[in-house]
Amino acid sequence: MLTRVHVIGAGLAGLAAAVRLSEQGHDVTLYEAAGQAGGRCRSFHDSVLDRLIDNGNHLVLSGNTSLRAYLSEIGATGSLIHGDPVFPFVDVRSGARWSLRPNTGPIPWWVLAPSRRPPGATAGAFLSALNFWRAGPDDTVADVLAQTHPLFETFWEPLALAVLNTPLDRAAAKPLWPVLVETFLRGAAACRPLLASGGLSAALVDPAIAHLQQCGANIQFGQRLRAIESRDDRAATLRFTGADVALGAADAVVLAIPHTDAQTVLPDIDAPRGGCAIVNAHFRLPNAPPFDAPFIGLIGAAAQWAFVRGDVVSVTISAADDLAAQSADSIATMIWPDVARAIRVDGAPLPAYRIVKERRATFDQTPRAVQARPEPATALANLYLAGDWTNTGLPATIEGAVRSGHRAANFVRRAQPRRLA
Ligand SMILES: Cc1cc2nc3c(=O)[nH]c(=O)nc-3n(C[C@H](O)[C@H](O)[C@H](O)COP(=O)(O)OP(=O)(O)OC[C@H]3O[C@@H](n4cnc5c(N)ncnc54)[C@H](O)[C@@H]3O)c2cc1C
Repeated sequence: MLTRVHVIGAGLAGLAAAVRLSEQGHDVTLYEAAGQAGGRCRSFHDSVLDRLIDNGNHLVLSGNTSLRAYLSEIGATGSLIHGDPVFPFVDVRSGARWSLRPNTGPIPWWVLAPSRRPPGATAGAFLSALNFWRAGPDDTVADVLAQTHPLFETFWEPLALAVLNTPLDRAAAKPLWPVLVETFLRGAAACRPLLASGGLSAALVDPAIAHLQQCGANIQFGQRLRAIESRDDRAATLRFTGADVALGAADAVVLAIPHTDAQTVLPDIDAPRGGCAIVNAHFRLPNAPPFDAPFIGLIGAAAQWAFVRGDVVSVTISAADDLAAQSADSIATMIWPDVARAIRVDGAPLPAYRIVKERRATFDQTPRAVQARPEPATALANLYLAGDWTNTGLPATIEGAVRSGHRAANFVRRAQPRRLA
């Protein structure tokens, strides 16, 4: 008989684990504290804009192999549109525009073509990518790359802030290297943006829930885990608000909740502390803007990336703890002029907006916190950890979350013969 597995948390880590374990024939129960799945990656109907919006822009790339495997398992490979491997930028101070255009194939000859790289940068400046390969465990991005570097402002800063969501004088440099290896250094085929035109939930979450239901998994919303009781070095009872679940001798648990919640449930766990905010501003325009790309990077602005979907432009500001303390009004008023310029509606009045503040969008990805990330296995033989904060080697991203779920599922599978013997 295959193990009964209790997966706690229906974010992408928990969903990826639950789907993989269901595929392997395990009897899966998925528990989620909220009334819906998706966690930090979800869509909702906003009454002010009268539009479906995502809690935040999520840029994923075709080199995200774990995400693509997950999409294939849930039968949703077509749910994300493969955009062109073109990354447009605008310097809002000067109005200068350019696009980064990686070429097909693994030899990055695109850096030799001035029309494919940022203005003022030489091909040799891209060798700075190797600084991330050489980075030590205690190095921050600012330690390995000077702010005066010709690619700092036009390439590394928007990329590193988006990926690490931590101020660059504190952000660990090391986790950026695997991102480069799996995407930009593999050429155009691995850095096509994957865009959720119908929203993140429809693309990544709803198909997983439907697939799990088809596989016979038991999905329980509104179930918050408070504590795990152990006996003989095994998790023995799951204490939810209002109900206890006693675990059988062959039951396993995958805990796929954020690091702060995991520390409440398991106070002795080694885990990163703290979190960093992301602020997203969604503007509804009177019409779709005359801007012909799905997204654009903003240089010289408080905001870093703007995504256009129909008549809604959604703007991301990462590492935004200070900004998150301001009122929605002042955030929208402050960033709108630069956003308008970026999407070619310069001077347009401030439209209707919704500000979404995710105060703990990711863990604070400092070198120390990165070194504190735990492996899936725990001191309890039948308890495994998943989540973007566990030690995937990747930054806290969708790809990292999905990979952590797959890793936890592998641990359950590998542990099984030992348990049944
Ligand atoms: C605004 C924003 C923008 C982002 N942009 C990007 C991007 O561009 N690209 C990218 O790759 N990544 C991005 N990310 C990061 C990405 O969203 C996360 O890394 C990923 O969604 C984390 O998934 P997870 O499953 O590890 O955690 P979560 O999504 O947090 O899922 C954990 C789940 O556990 C539930 N839970 C918590 N406590 C309990 C409990 N005690 N009992 C039961 N359930 C519980 C929660 O409700 C939640 O549903 C962004 C994140 C945010 C917030």
